[in-house]
Amino acid sequence: MYDVAVIGGGPVGSHVAYKLAGMGYEVAVLEQKERLGSKVCCTGIIGQECVRSFAVADNLILRRVNRATLFSPSGEVLRLGQQETQACVLDRAAFDTTMARCAQDKGAKYVFNSPVKNLEVSNDKVRIQTLRQEEGLDFDARVVVIASGFNSRLVEGLGMGRISHFVVGAQAEVETVALDELEIYFGEEIAPGFFAWLVPTSPLKARAGLLSRHSPGLYLKRLMASLVAQGKIVSAEAELSYGGIPLKPLARTYYNRRLVVGTAAGQVKPTTGGGIYYGLLCADIAANTLHQALNSNDLSARGLANYEREWKKKLGQELKMGYRIRKFYEHLNDRQIDKLFNTIKANGMADSLLKDSNVSFDWHSSGLLKILGTVAVSKVIQAVKIPFRLRNRG
Ligand SMILES: Cc1cc2nc3c(=O)[nH]c(=O)nc-3n(C[C@H](O)[C@H](O)[C@H](O)COP(=O)(O)OP(=O)(O)OC[C@H]3O[C@@H](n4cnc5c(N)ncnc54)[C@H](O)[C@@H]3O)c2cc1C
Repeated sequence: MYDVAVIGGGPVGSHVAYKLAGMGYEVAVLEQKERLGSKVCCTGIIGQECVRSFAVADNLILRRVNRATLFSPSGEVLRLGQQETQACVLDRAAFDTTMARCAQDKGAKYVFNSPVKNLEVSNDKVRIQTLRQEEGLDFDARVVVIASGFNSRLVEGLGMGRISHFVVGAQAEVETVALDELEIYFGEEIAPGFFAWLVPTSPLKARAGLLSRHSPGLYLKRLMASLVAQGKIVSAEAELSYGGIPLKPLARTYYNRRLVVGTAAGQVKPTTGGGIYYGLLCADIAANTLHQALNSNDLSARGLANYEREWKKKLGQELKMGYRIRKFYEHLNDRQIDKLFNTIKANGMADSLLKDSNVSFDWHSSGLLKILGTVAVSKVIQAVKIPFRLRNRG
């Protein structure tokens, strides 16, 4: 009988395990994969705030980023740059295995090859049924943390709601020709409703990827062919990986003896799809709530409700506004994106945002709202007649 069973050994599950094992609880992490770090579809960009808050070690960082070039659909260029590092590109495989090792060092037990298929909640425990063959199929724990990433079938199958708003991304590791900075591409022909990226990871390697309303693989193949034609990457032949990104969180993330955390709960920036930092912040909140609940032996839904209150206090507004801004962007056609791009450029708005201390890599909504609220941009919005409310009515 474990105190806590964590489903999923990604960064979020491992961080919850690390915190709780460090507090002296018996923790098991049930992971469906044979080993961590394999087949992760993620660009691995995190902001400096995340690096500092979670003491991400230097050897897990492939590249530091202080500049980015944005391309509008018609090829207009907007360069953003700061003196100091703004973000880092992680070696995701090494990051995941290091997070797990830290949890193991505190005493958490990892059980691999153990896809969880069902939970049975009773008065004093949760029975976790896995498809593991060798050592018996079931585990018992006082409480379960579901950190299974974008696996809507598991959460939904456990009767814990479903992520109904999401997008699918595609990514490939490519060889580049002296690419120096991160590039982002906008346009209906490139990534409908979203954007594409080329992120250098080493002097001659990069991650090319995109999110799109539909057919991400098809659009990524096209993008890679265009990057080859532009002389930016060497070949369009590369294996593609795919992953889902929630755009809205689950309606509810706590139940009797269960919490849902990280991407499984939809704790992801709807503007960019970044989920590592927000997931880790929520993992901290989950661990603190569980510590109190385990201590007082109140693992009822009421005893765990504080988790959702706290994470919503931290992220709720950012997720709501990010979602609205994302929906607004999805309505734009190429001509309108170009118009916005030119207005932002002509009015030096990007520069003033970079100097704004309230805006950072991880907290976008106030900066984006500032841009959308300016006279120049609101004229563009009115001219293109997009239904968009800046204020949260509710
Ligand atoms: C194309 C793409 C690019 C991205 N780029 C970035 C980026 O640059 N920056 C960023 O911050 N985020 C990015 N993300 C999002 C980021 O990858 C996720 O938010 C992050 O991995 C979430 O961590 P997690 O621990 O919640 O879930 P995951 O990392 O998905 O880990 C979940 C774990 O649970 C395991 N699991 C699933 N189901 C079961 C089961 N039934 N039983 C047992 N184990 C199970 C999985 O095998 C996995 O190991 C990107 C996502 C995509 C798709």
